[in-house]
Amino acid sequence: MADVKVDLAKCEGAGVCAEVCPMNVYDMVEIGGKKKAQATRAADCIICMACVNGCPAAAITVE
Ligand code: SF4
Repeated sequence: MADVKVDLAKCEGAGVCAEVCPMNVYDMVEIGGKKKAQATRAADCIICMACVNGCPAAAITVE
């Protein structure tokens, strides 16, 4: 199973991951008053790397 990690310190809440993910892995949530990506359905990840390549903050790693 893929290990999907969002570095919340880097995440700027752009939401690109949630838009490009073909498996709908991400939810955008409010954490400390800021929008952040959460890999809620990481178990569905097919390791396509679209989120890693699309994230403008380089906040995502998938292994
Ligand atoms: S690697 Fe692909 S399937 Fe996995 S979370 Fe990122 S965009 Fe979604």
